[in-house]
Amino acid sequence: MPTFRRVLCLSALLCLAVPAHAEWVRRVTDGIMGTRITIELWSEDKDKAEQAIDAVLDELRHIDESMSTYKPTSEVSQVNAKAADGPMRISKELFDLLVTAKEYSVLTDGAFDITYASVGYLYDFRKRVRPDEAQIAKALPAVNFRHVLLDAKHQTVQFSQKGVRIDLGGIAKGYSVDRGIDVLKSRGFTRAYVSAGGDSRIIGDRFGKPWMVGIRDPRKGEGEVITKIPLTDAAISTSGDYERFFDEDGVRYHHIIDPHTGHSASKVLSATIIGPYATRTDGLSKTAFVLGPEKAMEIYNRIDDIDAIIVKLDGTVIYSNGLEPAKAPGDKAGK
Ligand code: ADP
Ligand code: MG
Repeated sequence: MPTFRRVLCLSALLCLAVPAHAEWVRRVTDGIMGTRITIELWSEDKDKAEQAIDAVLDELRHIDESMSTYKPTSEVSQVNAKAADGPMRISKELFDLLVTAKEYSVLTDGAFDITYASVGYLYDFRKRVRPDEAQIAKALPAVNFRHVLLDAKHQTVQFSQKGVRIDLGGIAKGYSVDRGIDVLKSRGFTRAYVSAGGDSRIIGDRFGKPWMVGIRDPRKGEGEVITKIPLTDAAISTSGDYERFFDEDGVRYHHIIDPHTGHSASKVLSATIIGPYATRTDGLSKTAFVLGPEKAMEIYNRIDDIDAIIVKLDGTVIYSNGLEPAKAPGDKAGK
């Protein structure tokens, strides 16, 4: 076959293999779970991409409806209202997430604890409301993940005493991101990014290049990053004391609560966790605030499938073993 005809055949084949309208489709939505949702995916069909994004948002709305403590009708609000009276049957989805939450409490020596809400509900950061010492002392005995009794056989939850409240705010966004990714995977998408506030997950790469995810400088504006992390097939969550807070007499009151004291946990400025699932990275990113950088890093280094970046109170940045930059050749930097 003459060369030019072979070239023609080849280019015709290539045209068949690469659809004409393949493109990145991106949507940013505010108002679900009180945060910004970003979805981006590579699609060969714009309509299918938009439908998939709609399906992800429906899934996130469903999770918000069932897990938000701001909605009195949500399943979690019902649990808070009734679970101290006796075992209460709940959905499989909520039950499984409560099991996962408990696992994270054990992993983090109790730093992650959804019953923080037993005292946490007394704060309103938007209205600059905080409890006084007497209110904290009264509410604190109800803070303990062991008060949440889970019965797998009957799929029930019960609180062991009155005054216990749970709030999934420390894990629900990561969970939503994972569910969003599941929706996209089930529709055949292989390159996508889903984020809800500080929790993101990525599947695939950007055609040979990783996705670059910035970690914000905790004391600068939103666009200012301390570093950018290249990621493929990974989740990343950042918690910061700058997300929801008010300052009073030189003290920052913010939304991560130390379950042992009932006060804002202020031992670091921010913590970023990288791992396989956003539920996991979200659940673990609060720990550094409660336990401090050294103890938390010890725990993070002990957990095989995650890495961590912590910004300490003096602004210095420390990395988990798997991320230690510029190690000597032969060391397993960049695990
Ligand atoms: P975002 O809500 O932006 O994802 P974080 O991932 O840092 O931010 O989670 C902060 C939320 O975690 C708080 O708003 C609260 O709902 C919840 N929370 C606060 N303290 C704790 C704690 N000790 N254990 C578990 N969840 C917590
Ligand atoms: Mg989060």
